[in-house]
Amino acid sequence: MSSPATPGDTPFLPVQSRMVFSYYNRLTAEQKRTYRRSDEIRITLPRGVNGGSLIGALERSLAREDRERIQAICQELLDRLTTSFNVPRANVVVLAVRPNNSEGELHGFYEPIDDGAPARISIWMRTAQKKQVVAFKTFLRTLIHELCHHLDYELFQLPETFHTEGFYKRESSLVYALLGQANRPPSEAPERRVKRPEKSAARLLSELREKSSDQKR
Ligand SMILES: [Zn+2]
Repeated sequence: MSSPATPGDTPFLPVQSRMVFSYYNRLTAEQKRTYRRSDEIRITLPRGVNGGSLIGALERSLAREDRERIQAICQELLDRLTTSFNVPRANVVVLAVRPNNSEGELHGFYEPIDDGAPARISIWMRTAQKKQVVAFKTFLRTLIHELCHHLDYELFQLPETFHTEGFYKRESSLVYALLGQANRPPSEAPERRVKRPEKSAARLLSELREKSSDQKR
């Protein structure tokens, strides 16, 4: 089961060579053009972005489960990246336990700029199943995945953001470059990745928002 990504959740699909995801056939002609543009774009980490010390600090903060510190580090890392790419800032919110339903767990969520309100990336630090802290490299990949949705709109000016092979290559390119700056090998047994329709991700998020505003009252 595959779906276009507008806005993005974090599905976890293996990237195979020269492939088109199955949902391509259900797209309109215009969407197919966007998909093919997305598939062709490659990026590298801009010169001047030095994320090495932040990556190390992120790993230590995750180990301490220090949510506020994790959020501050993620924001600083994203600010450096968006500044270097010359795109508007995206706000990061680090939340505690991933929401889940029968379709799987939500890792991260991207909401584009809306009526002047800045783009927002939500990311969860604990798994839904065991309430364990998310593995550091999985967490970093999720953060960069959501940034790639932001870049699709703001840097590449795509009308929609799709999960294409090119999209995953852009994500990997940035993740590997950042891990390289921190002298960390990119390999880590990936968590089992679950694909879900975007609508259910959006629904999960709105349910979660309602819950947290109930708690604040
Ligand atoms: Zn996504």
